[in-house]
Amino acid sequence: MNNAGNYKRIVVKIGTSTLTHDTGKLNLHRIETLAQVLSDIKNSGTEVVLVSSGAVTAGVARIGFHRPTSTREKQALAAIGQNEVMKLYGKFFSLYGHPVAQLLLTKDVIDAPSRRSAAEDTLEELLSMGCVPIINENDSVSCYEIDFGGNDRLSAYVGVLCHADIVVNLTDIDGFYDSDPRKNPYAKMIPYVETVTDDMVTAAGGAGTERGTGGMQAKLLAAQILQEAGIPMMIVAGTDPKILYSVMDGTAKGTYFAGVAAK
Ligand code: GLU
Repeated sequence: MNNAGNYKRIVVKIGTSTLTHDTGKLNLHRIETLAQVLSDIKNSGTEVVLVSSGAVTAGVARIGFHRPTSTREKQALAAIGQNEVMKLYGKFFSLYGHPVAQLLLTKDVIDAPSRRSAAEDTLEELLSMGCVPIINENDSVSCYEIDFGGNDRLSAYVGVLCHADIVVNLTDIDGFYDSDPRKNPYAKMIPYVETVTDDMVTAAGGAGTERGTGGMQAKLLAAQILQEAGIPMMIVAGTDPKILYSVMDGTAKGTYFAGVAAK
């Protein structure tokens, strides 16, 4: 059963390929529309947490660097670009009357009970202060042992951390298909998935697009993390962030993962 219409707290995840143009530069119109729509949803009484990628790509765009080839380069570019991304969110959300707050996480924070509970308290406090928490992985200090394996999974951990009613993944595909629609013109979109099984995860291809790191497998893994906590997830096209209004009233085109744990 879809609980749309009763979402009190939503987590929205937006990936790099949706936040940027093919040139690698930030898509200002989309970022502004996202801030406007989330502000409006917040005005209507639903708390909003945003998980946003884009730091590394914005860093590349800011200093005219090539796509990073080493971890050191990626970490430095993330430090440059995170500020660029937050500058824009700060400006656009403030235009629509909402303060933002930046929270950068690594997986070891989630894994260590006392640090996890500090992150949880901070999130609760920010929401009660009326802020829009904007979360990314702390890429500049992240390394293989403590990374989330991408922001799809980070958004799932955030959903669990803040007891969200739904996590919405705004991405460059309009849902989960029975085969890869980029390769198979007859691929069919699946609007409803009750339980994500390990077989579904294995069957989903790995790679995302050139700028994003996600891909469908990462999204299914995220849905699996959420279903352990009974939280639904939706995959919808991020091309027009106004689709979030239809997510709120249950009419959005996309795939709804009901979040029912495997038996
Ligand atoms: N945290 C990375 C960034 O902000 C992106 C990781 C991902 O999109 O999965 O650039």
